[in-house]
Amino acid sequence: MDDCLFCKIAAGEIPSSKLFEDDTLLAFYDIDPQAPVHFLVIPKKHISSAADLTEEDAALLGHIYAVIARLCKELGVAESGYRVVTNVGEDAGQSVKHLHFHVLAKRSLAWPPG
Ligand code: AMP
Ligand code: ZN
Repeated sequence: MDDCLFCKIAAGEIPSSKLFEDDTLLAFYDIDPQAPVHFLVIPKKHISSAADLTEEDAALLGHIYAVIARLCKELGVAESGYRVVTNVGEDAGQSVKHLHFHVLAKRSLAWPPG
C-alpha cells in the first residue's frame, strides 16, 4: 500500500533492524524500545489492524505466533516470559496502520497495561 511505513519496511524501501524474514512476514526491532527486548512482527501484505483479520488469515496468524515463539527461544527469553500485543485503533494507541505484533521481554511487565 502506498504511503504505509510498514509496507515500505516490508519491501526493503526503508531500512530496519531485521531479526527474521520470509515470504510472508518480517520481524524487526522497534525503533523506540519499551523493554530491553522489543521487536515487531508484521505480515508483508497490508492489513490495517487486527480488526481487519478474517478466517482466511488463520494460517498467517499461526505462522506469526510460531515465528514469535521460535525467535523468543533464540533470544533466550522464552523461560523468563514475554508479552505479545497488538494495538487496534485510537484508544489502544495504534500509531502505524499496518498490523503489527509487539513482542516485549526482559523486564517485568505491569498488568493491567496503562
Ligand atoms: P503502535 O503504536 O502500536 O502502532 O506501534 C508502532 C510501533 O512502531 C511503535 O512502537 C514505534 O516505535 C514503531 N516504529 C515506528 N517507526 C519505526 C521504524 N521505522 N522502525 C521500527 N519501528 C518503528
Ligand atoms: Zn502497510
